[in-house]
Amino acid sequence: NEQIVLSARPNGMPNSEHFRTESIPVKDPENGEVLLKTLYISVDPYMRGRMNDRKSYVPPFALNEPLSGGIVAQVISSRSTELTEGDIVIGNLPWQKFITAPDASLRKLDPDLAPISASLGILGMPGLTAYFGLLDIGDPKPGETVVVSGAAGAVGTVVGQLARIKGARVVGIAGSDDKLHYLKNELQFDEVINYKTENVRDSLSNTCPDGVDVYFDNVGGDISDAVLSLINKGARIALCGQISLYNLEKQDHGPRMQGQLLINSALMKGFIVSDYAQHFEQGAMELAKWLKEGKLTYKETIVEGFDQTLRAFTGLFTGDNIGKQLVKVADP
Ligand code: NDP
Repeated sequence: NEQIVLSARPNGMPNSEHFRTESIPVKDPENGEVLLKTLYISVDPYMRGRMNDRKSYVPPFALNEPLSGGIVAQVISSRSTELTEGDIVIGNLPWQKFITAPDASLRKLDPDLAPISASLGILGMPGLTAYFGLLDIGDPKPGETVVVSGAAGAVGTVVGQLARIKGARVVGIAGSDDKLHYLKNELQFDEVINYKTENVRDSLSNTCPDGVDVYFDNVGGDISDAVLSLINKGARIALCGQISLYNLEKQDHGPRMQGQLLINSALMKGFIVSDYAQHFEQGAMELAKWLKEGKLTYKETIVEGFDQTLRAFTGLFTGDNIGKQLVKVADP
């Protein structure tokens, strides 16, 4: 068996010096536990925050302990009355090839309902983040203009599609022409902007002639300053993520655009998806319904092999992924 541990806290971009892969024994399950084979590991930007020794909404990862996060796995032996061999489950689990876990920490998936990997993406945490952040805080109305940054990622792709379902005009900002092509041609975004090759402020002025009513912010920094310069009276801004700032070695200045909120009586609200935990089931059901009806679609970027997990994780910060980034560790 193998596990990946945090061996040093990164300052700036994480690299191989901050992690270690260790051999460990497989632990036999005790009463109420199961032994799992890891199938898919989710790598997520928020994990970067947990690598710092700083207070946040989840405690930091401990040094020399395995990293952990969303994992889909299969039961290979069971001493649980709830789960049997062959069952597919999801949980917040350590980055290990084989995992021994209490059954109470796992949720059983129905592989007939949707592909099992979707439970880490559109039907899981990122999909629910888009659903509640956009619909509760952004609350887009037909004909309004919604701008989403990080538009081609796991959360952003769902945000744009939901905004279109609600009848809004959608403008997506992302970092490559391949991504723009996907957003425009497959997800039917109305307008797309490449923040690496265009002047974002100018392109936003051109693509948002009626201003911005809703901004779903996945990235923070200069891109968000540019969007905020164009908000309309009564605009709603859902503060979801700040990925452009996660690897800064020194704290950035800002925010610089609060004046825009003031003069436009606008709302900016941060949120953590778990704020909506009581409504997850309803959100996931509605997402699954739209997926089934073909109103929503999704893409995954999958790297193969447990030893590729760190590459997949750091790739989030260089924009290697379109849609949800996953690591496929084994077949069921
Ligand atoms: P993504 O799938 O969107 O992957 C990250 C993407 O961010 C990359 O593909 C890259 O795309 C973009 N990116 C990386 N660095 C920069 C940068 N410096 N400037 C602009 N864009 C950058 O990840 P998720 O969909 O999982 O997460 C999106 C955001 O939502 C993150 O900020 C995350 O922390 C946040 N989040 C918040 C949650 C909450 O509860 N509030 C829950 C889940 C996620 P590109 O090629 O376009 O640069």
